[in-house]
Amino acid sequence: MHGMRVLILSDIHANLVALETVLSAADGEYDDMWCLGDVVGYGPRPNECVEIIRDQASLCVMGNHDWAVLGRPGVDVDDFNPQAREAVLWTREELTEESRAYLDQLPAVPVRPEASDKILITHASPREPVWEYIMNPRVAMDNFDVFVEPICLVGHTHKPAIYRWHIRQEPVSGPSRPILPTVDYLQPKCGVDLSIDTTDGQRLIINPGSVGQPRDNDARAAYAILDLDTMVWRYERVSYPIELTQGQMQEAKLPRRLIDRLSFGW
Ligand code: ZN
Repeated sequence: MHGMRVLILSDIHANLVALETVLSAADGEYDDMWCLGDVVGYGPRPNECVEIIRDQASLCVMGNHDWAVLGRPGVDVDDFNPQAREAVLWTREELTEESRAYLDQLPAVPVRPEASDKILITHASPREPVWEYIMNPRVAMDNFDVFVEPICLVGHTHKPAIYRWHIRQEPVSGPSRPILPTVDYLQPKCGVDLSIDTTDGQRLIINPGSVGQPRDNDARAAYAILDLDTMVWRYERVSYPIELTQGQMQEAKLPRRLIDRLSFGW
């Protein structure tokens, strides 16, 4: 039996040290790998990270930084904040033709993996696959309307999150009892097996957090393992030698603010 446990990675952002640490921490616990986008941007080792994802992930979607680095028409890097913009321009220079070609063929639309018809994969949101931030239950609610699968995996915010859509039965009896769909935010618990069985009609939007630049005030790299057989989701954090990445960024003369933020996870 193979292909049942999937390592879910998002927002690696060219942080090779974090990526390698995650791969060794998860070693032996997965059969396949999916990446939710933003392989590059911000960090010092874009080509190495692209190579790992290209060789090991059976599926990867395009993130907004991947898109910006390609310099496609319709994206203005001036819409990025100054440090992100500087990193995009640096990455553009640094990328090999091979890496560019890989990023260039990533789908900028939501994708359904071959291994499961219950899951949709997108970088940002089902509605705006590359750009929209799902930061609260209201935005999540709007997005549940635009896809049909029970589960959607997203990245982009760099914050682990679970949004749960379900029908709330009002505690009123009688034939006119109102049926209201609602969305709750569930705080992901690190290292805990979470059943994401959806046979009872609930639906989920799940964000595994960021490998290479977490923004939830926890500097550790984030990832998740999804068992497609049992439908168990386990979100994990792992410490990595941040100072190694920071040293590489300093050598590359990437912006100070981007170097510093890794220590704090914002
Ligand atoms: Zn990102």
